Amino acid sequence: QRGSPFLDPGPVTKANSLALLHLSRDNLEPVYLAQTAGEHDGYAEGVVVNTRYGSYPHSSMIGIPWGTQIRASKVDTGSRGRKRKRPNGDDAGPSSDGTPADTPAETETPEPPQNPAKQPVATTSGFIHILPPTPELWTLSLPHRTQVVYTPDYSYILHRIRARPGTVLIEAGAGSGSFSHASVRAVYNGYPDRDGKHKGKVFSYEFHEDRYRKMKKEIQDHGLEGLVQLTHRDVYNGGFLVDGESPKASSIFLDLPSPWEALPHLSRQRPQSDKAENGSETTEEDEKPWVSPLDPKKNAYLCTFSPCIEQVTRTVSALRRLGWVDIDMLEIAHRKLHTVRDRVGLNLPYDRSVNVSAKDVDEALGRLTEIEDRLRENSRPRAGADAMDDDDDIEADDNNITAPASTAEASSARPWKDGRLVTRGEPEIKSHTSYLVFAILPREWTGEQEAAALAKYPVGE
Ligand code: SAM
Repeated sequence: QRGSPFLDPGPVTKANSLALLHLSRDNLEPVYLAQTAGEHDGYAEGVVVNTRYGSYPHSSMIGIPWGTQIRASKVDTGSRGRKRKRPNGDDAGPSSDGTPADTPAETETPEPPQNPAKQPVATTSGFIHILPPTPELWTLSLPHRTQVVYTPDYSYILHRIRARPGTVLIEAGAGSGSFSHASVRAVYNGYPDRDGKHKGKVFSYEFHEDRYRKMKKEIQDHGLEGLVQLTHRDVYNGGFLVDGESPKASSIFLDLPSPWEALPHLSRQRPQSDKAENGSETTEEDEKPWVSPLDPKKNAYLCTFSPCIEQVTRTVSALRRLGWVDIDMLEIAHRKLHTVRDRVGLNLPYDRSVNVSAKDVDEALGRLTEIEDRLRENSRPRAGADAMDDDDDIEADDNNITAPASTAEASSARPWKDGRLVTRGEPEIKSHTSYLVFAILPREWTGEQEAAALAKYPVGE
């Protein structure tokens, strides 16, 4: 599976492969780098990505080390250059890849292109970085078809369900493929067995036809075929066997509206059906030999992901009845704390005796001088044994990381030198808050296995 840019991107970008354009911190754009051949879509340089940070011909992004900073190009539209009309009548440069044409292309030079494909005419001031695809970046840039599982959740989930190189993992539903990409990297074991097969594999199920088709194409485009096997299926009714065969999974992730409806299919033996419990007659289906999708030789580690506590209650109830153990539930409350030194001058909450809002640097400096004078005056009578030196000031400040400043502090510390430490929560962390239910189904263990084990390792009287 050396072809997947997610698993082995190699040192440089490649044509016809996925790359992620890092436009700004929260703005990533997935692009399949097109091999350019002369004029294409109106540009002499071939396919061009137009962004608000400038224009970037694919030809300038192929065969360069990942992480490279790329300067915007002044794109030469060549003899085919025409100003394209936007639907609203504005002029816009052609966009060959569906990206909004924020930067109008240069259209004033109708002469044939002078530059070879790899050297666009001139550069402008914008720049972007080109990054290799990773599950984390893909999660932030993928086309959303459903609510997705974000990195803070899936990293913990993969750890708890013991996804590691060589693991066979079941996930349902596939949705937008966020979890699929993270899980395939976790189970990928790098090198195939002697028979050429990779042991680690993700069996993914999706019943929504359009999502299934799009996901299937993505798996192909990302070189993940053979490692992610997608099945178009309603798992509540159809279960998890593929062509009647067991995937032999040991890790399971269910991101479904009603996980309890899928759980009976994940049993080791045919589950006691409600019909049987009620004393009703068994059907022909009940008579067929039971094939479990789980690996009989391993414990099965499961996680379900549900936004409502009512779903959790029903899931836990089903898990208990089906023999799962070690059941627990938690929620990932991911918070990133952003700690900075807040420079004094533009916002001076600790000296309310001075009007603190400053409009510009000069005004802020004036206020600072005023505050310093006042503090110098206040500290004069106290100067002596108990006066704090600079280090004490900093320590006093550091110890007071989040507490609101008071006027009393301001008179003893000199925070304008270093700024006060202020810690804020970042509200923009992406995490789909759901309840995570974990459970374990112990491996199969028969009387014969127990007898064999006792014979091998006899227990003392
Ligand atoms: N975990 C996915 C991700 O990270 O992108 C998102 C999953 S999305 C929230 C739930 C998906 O389950 C939907 O795409 C839905 O079509 C699918 N689904 C719901 N019921 C299903 C069923 N009975 N069988 C298979 N898929 C189902």
